[in-house]
Amino acid sequence: MMKKETDILIIGAGPVGLFTVFEAGLLGLDCVLIDNLDKIGGQCSELYPEKPIYDIPGVANQTAQEHVDALLEQIKPFDYEVFLNERVEKIDEISEEDINSWKVTTSEGKEFIAKSIFIAAGAGSFEPRRPPNIENPDRFLEQGVSYSVRSKEKFRDKNLLIFGGGDSALDWTVELSDIAKSIKLVHRRDEFRGAPNTEAQMRELVNEGKVELKTPYVIENLIGKEKVTGVELKNFETKVIEEVQADELLFLFGLNKKLGPISEWGLDMSNKKISVDTEKFETSTKGIFAVGDINDYPGKLDLILCGFHETTLAVQEAYRRSNPGERVPFGYTTSNTKLQKKLGVTD
Ligand SMILES: Cc1cc2nc3c(=O)[nH]c(=O)nc-3n(C[C@H](O)[C@H](O)[C@H](O)COP(=O)(O)OP(=O)(O)OC[C@H]3O[C@@H](n4cnc5c(N)ncnc54)[C@H](O)[C@@H]3O)c2cc1C
Repeated sequence: MMKKETDILIIGAGPVGLFTVFEAGLLGLDCVLIDNLDKIGGQCSELYPEKPIYDIPGVANQTAQEHVDALLEQIKPFDYEVFLNERVEKIDEISEEDINSWKVTTSEGKEFIAKSIFIAAGAGSFEPRRPPNIENPDRFLEQGVSYSVRSKEKFRDKNLLIFGGGDSALDWTVELSDIAKSIKLVHRRDEFRGAPNTEAQMRELVNEGKVELKTPYVIENLIGKEKVTGVELKNFETKVIEEVQADELLFLFGLNKKLGPISEWGLDMSNKKISVDTEKFETSTKGIFAVGDINDYPGKLDLILCGFHETTLAVQEAYRRSNPGERVPFGYTTSNTKLQKKLGVTD
């Protein structure tokens, strides 16, 4: 398999990972961004897309999703690639010369070679919550059990059970109602935490007979040998258990933040975060940097603007690693003619 080579491999496509691409791009460095979520934007997009942020310098207010969109617009001129739905699992040193480099392996088995690694992993990777009381539901992973929708086609003409009471469960019930053969939405009570408008759409589909709403039910058991063939559902009030047939189960119970494999990479940690210096924001291992919420140093604040400062300084060292012996060029963006050309700006 071909390994992709890059100057900087960034673990985490939150705001700080995205701004790293900008600072790296100014210095002519290319980047690969990897995130185990199915979307770009880290906490901003996953946890509070519609909340306004007031402390981005020079921007009076912007919703978190608008902030992510603006960061994406800002990095358009630069050379980067994004890989979503993949968790970085392993980091191996592949040369022990003065300037070492790294081989990075993801959960999908992809390999990358990078001169520098930037861990911009926030509070760790977001992991889907598993159904409670079910022993090892992952034994059926991709064999009838899913925690996100990577491709709607997977559910075409299938008998689908969706579990959950939030936005994702409601959104996907509505979205997949035309694709699946049948949909049952299962929730422990007849109240939902999602957008009222989407809940109304879901209830309309129930009235039209396109969706069956099963409340108040909880999952009791998975049925199947190699593949899921159904579930046992317990009525939360009567405690009666019934068997329901299904081809696909989609559990949308929200996300947990987990440090995940980061704690196995041999880096010095404090308070479940990665210790860094405040000159280069380098970890205890040369060539591995930690920026944004994931790092720890005296006075650290978990704010986006602090992450931007950290990564700006860390990228200086990444430049030295990719261009040994060269002075890091310094210039204001106001006089960066190359950038202006790429953006099509003329006087
Ligand atoms: C409700 C709320 C309101 C907030 N309001 C503000 C505010 O007003 N102003 C402000 O400055 N800050 C605010 N914050 C904090 C701000 O969102 C964080 O400081 C910011 O998101 C940190 O950015 P980051 O890029 O470091 O990490 P994150 O945004 O956490 O992104 C990290 C990404 O890394 C991924 N990742 C982790 N491990 C791996 C791995 N092994 N492989 C692949 N991917 C991985 C994660 O899935 C995640 O997507 C708020 C936070 C919350 C929850």
